[in-house]
Amino acid sequence: MTKDLTYYAKRFVKLRVDRAKGVAPHKPILLLAVLDLLGKEQIHRNEIYLSPELTANFLKFWHRFVASDHHSNIALPFFHLTGDNFWHLMPNPGFEAAIAARVKFRTLPVLRAAVKYAYLDGELFALLQTPQTRTELTTILIQAWFPEKAGEIAESFTYDEFEAVQQSLLDSGGATYNVEDLKDQDQIFVRNAAFRRNVVKLYDQRCAFCKLRVVSWDGANIVDGAHIQPFAEFRDDRFVNGLALCKNHHWAFDRGWFGVDDDYRIVIPWARFKEEAAVGSRGMMQFRGERIELPREERFMPSLEGLRWHRERWEIG
Ligand SMILES: [Zn+2]
Repeated sequence: MTKDLTYYAKRFVKLRVDRAKGVAPHKPILLLAVLDLLGKEQIHRNEIYLSPELTANFLKFWHRFVASDHHSNIALPFFHLTGDNFWHLMPNPGFEAAIAARVKFRTLPVLRAAVKYAYLDGELFALLQTPQTRTELTTILIQAWFPEKAGEIAESFTYDEFEAVQQSLLDSGGATYNVEDLKDQDQIFVRNAAFRRNVVKLYDQRCAFCKLRVVSWDGANIVDGAHIQPFAEFRDDRFVNGLALCKNHHWAFDRGWFGVDDDYRIVIPWARFKEEAAVGSRGMMQFRGERIELPREERFMPSLEGLRWHRERWEIG
């Protein structure tokens, strides 16, 4: 059979979905999110990552168009679409055998650990590069699975949910969560990623400690959005609980190798480590007493209370 538009139109209409509790909408919703990101040119190669952008836009369609009481878990369709013969998974090193044996990975963190990305049949990916075919397949998908929502879905394509989440968190200064919130793994994954991106942006993409800034062309960043009080304990994603730190200094901060005082100066306890800086570069000790990089806006300044808590935990100063 020729793998052309008609072939894939049929595949999209006949997705193999679970019908035990009514038609499970996961697969068509995931495909809508993929089509959406393709249209926004956020997917350039035939590699579909389980990214915060994909997850956010999956949730956008889900929350607006799913009325059944199915649970919105992106890991399910991302894995099970392999059964429809046009969606394939590229395993991470060490997971080749598990993926080949179709071992089920049912949660987002576990699936992200096992799978590098999903990819489509080459023929389908090529078809989706043309706006017209993309629109045709999108229309077919909507008519088959959400016929009464066509107009609203078209409207949902006009904005990017991940950007919207980032902006609304920025406006509110971030968020804190309770234990119950953490059960929605998709939502928390998106919100944590939005926290990290926002923190890094607030610090102009520089490490607050050493001021290093290295960003790759595809947006990957050597600077992390670190938590002053650990998320696992405090569930505090307010930006005042954030610090932008490069990988080295994030690691060092999380182990109490340095702290930040009430004047935002670097405090380094003696005798916690031994270092030899390369010729011409500054070792950590030389940053002692220096002021960290701070966000421009007063309302995002790191919390002195949090920094004090961190110094006490690690017996600094
Ligand atoms: Zn650094």
